Amino acid sequence: MENKVSFYNTLTKKIELFIPNTDGKVGLYTCGPTVYHFAHIGNLRSYIMEDILEKSLRYIGYDVKRVMNITDVGHLSSDADTGEDKMLKGAKREHKTVMEIAAFYTDAFFQDCKDLNIKRPDVVEPATNCVPEFIQMISGLMEKGYAYESGGNIYFDTSKLKEYYVLSSQSEDELLSGVRDDVEVDDNKKNKTDFVLWFTKSKFDDQELKWDSPWGIGYPGWHIECSAISMKHLGEYMDIHCGGIDNIFPHHTNEIAQSEAYIGHKWCNYWFHVHHLNDKSGKMSKSKGDFLTVSLLKSKGYNPLVYRMFCLQSHYRKPLEFSYEVLDNMSAAYDKLIKRVASLKEEGEVDQVKFDEFKTKFEDAFSNDLNSSMAITVLYDMLKADMSDKTKLALVKSFDEVLSLDLLSGPKETEKEVDADLEAFVLAKIEERKAAKKEKDFAKADAIRNELLEKGVVIEDTREGVKWKLN
Ligand code: AMP
Ligand code: ZN
Repeated sequence: MENKVSFYNTLTKKIELFIPNTDGKVGLYTCGPTVYHFAHIGNLRSYIMEDILEKSLRYIGYDVKRVMNITDVGHLSSDADTGEDKMLKGAKREHKTVMEIAAFYTDAFFQDCKDLNIKRPDVVEPATNCVPEFIQMISGLMEKGYAYESGGNIYFDTSKLKEYYVLSSQSEDELLSGVRDDVEVDDNKKNKTDFVLWFTKSKFDDQELKWDSPWGIGYPGWHIECSAISMKHLGEYMDIHCGGIDNIFPHHTNEIAQSEAYIGHKWCNYWFHVHHLNDKSGKMSKSKGDFLTVSLLKSKGYNPLVYRMFCLQSHYRKPLEFSYEVLDNMSAAYDKLIKRVASLKEEGEVDQVKFDEFKTKFEDAFSNDLNSSMAITVLYDMLKADMSDKTKLALVKSFDEVLSLDLLSGPKETEKEVDADLEAFVLAKIEERKAAKKEKDFAKADAIRNELLEKGVVIEDTREGVKWKLN
């Protein structure tokens, strides 16, 4: 098929025409969430824009296979393998096992995706499912001399590469200081950029998840996950790898290092990175403790699709600042758009010439470095254009395959009515749960949470206290 999609490739640092390895087919990999907490709306900005990339490629005619991992082991609080294990931190916080935490937050993530009309990838693979694949890859790296054992752990030796910093033009020191939030030097490393492939002599004695390996009982590092999982499902040649810009270094840099050392040839041709969502104080992150979630937006009465539209209105390569003021404006624009579409009548005939003309404009917007706000402009222009309502309705339906804004759903109440008796009951239960937690009766606290869940009430512990909402 004709290739006409261009986007910014972090690897070549320019906007390039996308040409897949196999004509008409795309192998797409996305770094999935670390499931130790809810995803914040910044994480979800990345997933929304990756969803748009996938859907626009499909819309234009590619057969896309998308794979996503779920990080349920190995991701430490600093991306450079230092600090606390994130999953363990989540488990301690909630007095649960790591696997309970992983199951709960994986479900919560896909619920958020559902609310935001983000399509579930064709393959979703938790890291804990693939330990044999990690071991196989690490063994291969050991055999080829790219990995070494030190202090009980297995490290990748970055000095064996011709070029390590393939993805970034920043200086080495800038990159390293960027990831060293909590400076902690690992004396086992031969070079400061070496990274852990397998932890055995772990500093986490209480690490719950451990597996046997040729190097002793332990667990995998974070970076090896994505290399091994993508190769398992997409083979040795991948078309596009996605993530947020914070993944460029060290995560994606390390993925390239170990993957290409292992397979002995170029691995992935295009790297697609989404810029961050910031709040007034800077980058939104889960470790900040108090962060914005889709549930919070819902409990404040926002339709999550308003947030999706907010993301689509800005370019994925620009930082985006969140504020409720802008979200309110977007909410008004969204409601107006839905009403405008609802006023169209099934009248007249579909004018195929007009249909094709606008469909091409819409495709061109996405083909031009994923210009989603331009695509929305095409939608508005189309609604204003002189043609039958039936043609417009057909185009709205077609565009919504990519935009996924439920444009044909009609105006609806976003806020659910809350019955006064139910509210009193929930507040009493929240107090009861607080008392149980104070007495360290966590079983009772969990039972109360479940009792509320059965009534369709979801509670969330935040820094400002317990928040609740109807599911
Ligand atoms: P994590 O669950 O921390 O592994 O992150 C999941 C995804 O969210 C990754 O692709 C990150 O690059 C991305 N991400 C993290 N913080 C932000 C942010 N503030 N804005 C946009 N994307 C982000
Ligand atoms: Zn990854």
